[in-house]
Amino acid sequence: MGTSTVRSYVTCPILNIHILNNSIILKKSLLAALILFLGIFIVNTTISLLNAPGQLSVKPVSKYNLDKSALAENLARAIQFKTISYENKDSIDYQTFTDMHNFIRDTYPALFSNLNVSTINDYSLIFKWQGLDSLLDPVVLMAHQDVVPSGNSDDWTVPPFAGEIIDGFIWGRGALDDKGCMMSLIEATNFLVSTEFKPRRTLFLVLGHDEEIGGQDGALAISKSFESKNINPFLILDEGMAIVDGILPGVEKPVGLIGIAEKGYSTIELLATSKGGHSSMPPDDASINILTKGLQVIAENPLPADLDGVAKSMFSYLLPQLPLSTRIIFANQWLFNPLIISNLENQAETNALIRTTTAFTTFHSGIKENVLPVSAQATINFRLKPGDTIESVEHHVKTLIDDLPIQIIQSNAKFASNPSKISPIDSEGYLLLNKTIRQVFSKTIVAPGLVLGGTDSRHFENLTNSIYRFAPIVFTSEDLKRMHGLDERISIENYAMMVQFYIQLIKNTSN
Ligand SMILES: [Zn+2]
Repeated sequence: MGTSTVRSYVTCPILNIHILNNSIILKKSLLAALILFLGIFIVNTTISLLNAPGQLSVKPVSKYNLDKSALAENLARAIQFKTISYENKDSIDYQTFTDMHNFIRDTYPALFSNLNVSTINDYSLIFKWQGLDSLLDPVVLMAHQDVVPSGNSDDWTVPPFAGEIIDGFIWGRGALDDKGCMMSLIEATNFLVSTEFKPRRTLFLVLGHDEEIGGQDGALAISKSFESKNINPFLILDEGMAIVDGILPGVEKPVGLIGIAEKGYSTIELLATSKGGHSSMPPDDASINILTKGLQVIAENPLPADLDGVAKSMFSYLLPQLPLSTRIIFANQWLFNPLIISNLENQAETNALIRTTTAFTTFHSGIKENVLPVSAQATINFRLKPGDTIESVEHHVKTLIDDLPIQIIQSNAKFASNPSKISPIDSEGYLLLNKTIRQVFSKTIVAPGLVLGGTDSRHFENLTNSIYRFAPIVFTSEDLKRMHGLDERISIENYAMMVQFYIQLIKNTSN
């Protein structure tokens, strides 16, 4: 605005002085603004660096004496049981769960003689190790016994249920998700039973059998049983997040992400109908035309992205690890927020962190190339960020397609869930996990995180707000593809570290 005023007087000799003055004023103002901006930048950056949450200072602990190859052998054997969950429960081979229980009983007799072992709905296992102080709230460590199907076995380098140990890795379905956790929890507890150790707090190992199909018969039933017994855990730890190495851009050290919340899940089914008929005289309102218009509007209007809540908390812990330029940008969100958001939106992983995601997952229509179909149907799967709800997402979709003749059929209600509550990062339970990660994985920094999928732990919200999701597995970006994918495996070294972690954690809960 100022510049155009200057130009309009440029030919007037008298006003040239005025122009000159204006330019000087303009330059001075610009300079002042620049200094002010820089001042705010520097002050904000300094404040943010000074206030950046630091890492717990703890001494690394010495390792327990474990027989790594025996540990690996036992995990490999557990992998051989095809405890596969299918949506259609008639397809599930429940006998194999019983067989696996027998294997655990035969392999860890001391565990069964020292702990109280019970089942819920026949196949979920609960180990209870009575604590010395029965007035203290218990600790609940969770994992699940079931696995997802392997797909075509021929696509695997090693058969998925052979339980083979090759090149320093234990291969097979469940090695990462979640028999690694299940068996290392059992090993850690068994190790401690064999020592003089007695837990101060009662310890529960909760091993659900149907996590991959929603956890209704396992975790949910166990949670109800705990509720009826007034069990309010001091800490619940389940799978969900892990130690990521070289995955977070700009962060060189491995990061132990403790999931303090998990996203919700909802599915919306859309249906468009029309008269149908011969394809030689197609009308504008053919069912596929209507539905694709609706889907396009939905795709172009995603739910809003925000750098708040868990994502904000996570970045505050990661910031000291990031390059100075990034820290300056994050410290000055009053100016750079749109830039930060658009950068995070550009990557699927970070986009999922800052918004409820929209995924078109099925589209059904048509029977023949020259026939207009009478109906078209599509499914949209949403993963809900804390703050959004199943209702708010449905409202968002309804508003977008309001003027189109499309029906909404809310489906898959069985699996629909609102986002979890956000667990505190100043609770004793969180601090204990934080400490244990830094004791056992000494070069690792710790930050809170958001779990993008779902875990059994969401069924325990009625018992405590101290629910955390972390498995002591070190993941590189290559490993991520193996989860629910091909060639799932864990290194013998990493698996032994998992056992070290759980031993240390159980000991720490007794301090
Ligand atoms: Zn899992």
